[in-house]
Amino acid sequence: MIKSPASLALEKRRAELVPHLVQLSEHAWLSVAEDVSNVGMIVGKNGIVIIDTGQSTECAAATLKKFREIAPADKYPIKAVIYTHGHGDHTGGSSVFCSEGAKPEIWTRSNFGAETVPFEHAGLMPLFKARGALQGGFRLPPEKRICNGIAPVRYPSAGGAAFSGRTGAVPPDHFFSGDSTVLSAGGLELSLFATPGETDDALSVWFPAEKVLFCGDNLYRSFPNLYPVRGVGNRDVPAWIDSLNRMLALDADALVPGHTDPFIGRNEVRTVITNYRDAVRHVFDKTIEGMNAGKTPDELAAEIRLPEHLAGLDYLGEYYGNVAWAVRQIFGQYVGWFDGNPLHLYTNFTTRDEAARMAALAGGEEALLKNARAALRNNDPAWAARLADHLLTLRPDDAQILELKADALDALGETMLTATGRNYTLSVAQNLRQKATQR
Ligand SMILES: [Zn+2]
Repeated sequence: MIKSPASLALEKRRAELVPHLVQLSEHAWLSVAEDVSNVGMIVGKNGIVIIDTGQSTECAAATLKKFREIAPADKYPIKAVIYTHGHGDHTGGSSVFCSEGAKPEIWTRSNFGAETVPFEHAGLMPLFKARGALQGGFRLPPEKRICNGIAPVRYPSAGGAAFSGRTGAVPPDHFFSGDSTVLSAGGLELSLFATPGETDDALSVWFPAEKVLFCGDNLYRSFPNLYPVRGVGNRDVPAWIDSLNRMLALDADALVPGHTDPFIGRNEVRTVITNYRDAVRHVFDKTIEGMNAGKTPDELAAEIRLPEHLAGLDYLGEYYGNVAWAVRQIFGQYVGWFDGNPLHLYTNFTTRDEAARMAALAGGEEALLKNARAALRNNDPAWAARLADHLLTLRPDDAQILELKADALDALGETMLTATGRNYTLSVAQNLRQKATQR
């Protein structure tokens, strides 16, 4: 099979996401791609501060070993660990940094875990985990799970469990509420700012002496993940834009994302944050404009694009976040599920009714199946999958239709650059194929 441009772009990304150490300033370092997320170290007179810890203890140990070649443990004990937000890929390696010597203080914001808590309260963790495994492609074979767009594959692939059990997240014990706080540790003075964005609990770490800004997951080398396909109630887009403006105002010399390589140099940092903010603002403004014009999320998702001067930038490529999903998220953030089409207010016309009538229109179920197969042959996998959906509504256990839908999803997934959507599509295809063979 010829590889799609999306596959080639993700393979290029994978080649960039190899473990390496970057010196950010005289006293600040970053371990990039050792784990799925980056780990930062700032070296003070008599101790170090760690910013984020990666997801797994194995990767955290490898990073700490590299850090210790720069700052030996006897002279520079770990005084503090900072979590930029509550996602497990930033906290799971912390037991390694907490067990080296005296336990460091672990700092974060008082609303730590804000994104997961509503799922826990609602009893929705099974869904959260199931969809998380699909978007992560945890059960895909290695050749289908290229990378996740902003992170390498670092935990079990084919047949592996959702998470390996090797995580060692230590709960935070120092919190700040409100806008900001100053952390003094190891002879360092750092400012922690509330910068809600990818999560409501997000913070940025500012090392003013050397003008280094650690921004967690509010910016990385991809269009931002305004909506994860794993599912989330709300990512506050205007708050995210405000946080980007705040980051811009600091005039940093180094900008350190939670994933992918840092940006070094004052002009580069200013340009990157400006473009990033403008991209998010453009998608936001266009969505609001279209909503006021009475357009539906389907229409807006199909028509809104980044302006050309931003769409061509590698750090705004849709490797991880996706413009169309962002549009739907913004629509939902304000008006919820109703798209404005009154037909969707009725429940007496079911998908089964529609499927039966589609089959009748096509000249029967066999004719519909023929059409779906022809669509797939004619390189129109989206239409093939759509027709297969109608057929599966009528014949949910029919192995040949399950296979057809799986083939269509495989072909569609191959064209998807956004890694989470690609993983999700290919994982569902794999599940359908498995169901077909069990028939
Ligand atoms: Zn992350």
